[in-house]
Amino acid sequence: MIVDVKNIVKVRKQKLKEKVEYLKANGINPKLVVIFASDDPASEIYVSKKRNMCSEIGIEEEEFLLDSNVTTDEIISIINKLNKDSSVHGILVQLPLYKHLNENKILESINPDKDVDGLHPLNLGRLLSNKEGLVSCTPRGIITILDELGIDINGKNAVVVGRSVLVGKPIAHLLLNRGATITLCHSKTTNLKQHTEKADILVVAVGKAKIITADMVKEGAIVIDVGINRIEGKIVGDVDTEAVRDIAKYITPVPGGVGLTTVLSLLENVTEVASKKI
Ligand code: NDP
Repeated sequence: MIVDVKNIVKVRKQKLKEKVEYLKANGINPKLVVIFASDDPASEIYVSKKRNMCSEIGIEEEEFLLDSNVTTDEIISIINKLNKDSSVHGILVQLPLYKHLNENKILESINPDKDVDGLHPLNLGRLLSNKEGLVSCTPRGIITILDELGIDINGKNAVVVGRSVLVGKPIAHLLLNRGATITLCHSKTTNLKQHTEKADILVVAVGKAKIITADMVKEGAIVIDVGINRIEGKIVGDVDTEAVRDIAKYITPVPGGVGLTTVLSLLENVTEVASKKI
């Protein structure tokens, strides 16, 4: 069955709106600041989606649109000011940055308690040690989908394909923290099928269309397709959805799947930071 992620997001958005209204009634105005220093056209689309959802939910959003002459130090100086500004609850640096910029140095300059993208090493460490912290948005969104589907993660075999810091590693740790037995696959994995066919929960975050075919999926599995690939002008995921949909119990669509919960999770993170002020 194809998961109706749009409906999941609709329900969660309503809850978030109510939280934001409650915060505003208590004098707290949740605010996100986005730093945009990139010439990546896809990133412009992602930022506009974030802007639109902020306005829908009632979260204030400000953008720093920086041209290609900007330096790493200039961005860090902007971040330092935002770190000290108590009216700002979330700081997000849209990736990828211009190539000359030092991504690690910039991300590490964000106050971890305002790091709503969850990419600061301290937040990654908190995740590793199963302590409370800000969790990166795509992995958090995947857990939202599993929770809304009523999936008990405890004791399941979870296979994650892709080991990036953005998606693969954090989702593997979130699943582990919820009691799953995890297998983390990557480009050096030999015989990928041998792993994926054992998965009760299969998360695919590679960026290669149809890397997962029907013969690689266990009957009744829950398949979360994170991939975004542009093939002949169409956006598709990493899984051969048409072939897998009859085998899997659930499969998330692309587009209209994990991408929607990614933006939602960002705003949930901003709201959680703002809630700590009460
Ligand atoms: P990365 O390119 O950073 O990571 C891709 C991962 O896939 C790597 O770990 C790589 O292994 C692994 N890989 C590559 N080839 C194979 C293979 N043949 N078999 C098994 N593993 C392989 O990508 P991201 O994690 O940032 O993103 C993954 C996909 O998800 C992309 O399509 C991206 O656009 C999409 N995405 C979607 C989001 C959403 O909100 N829907 C958000 C973020 C990403 P190795 O480490 O060995 O190189």
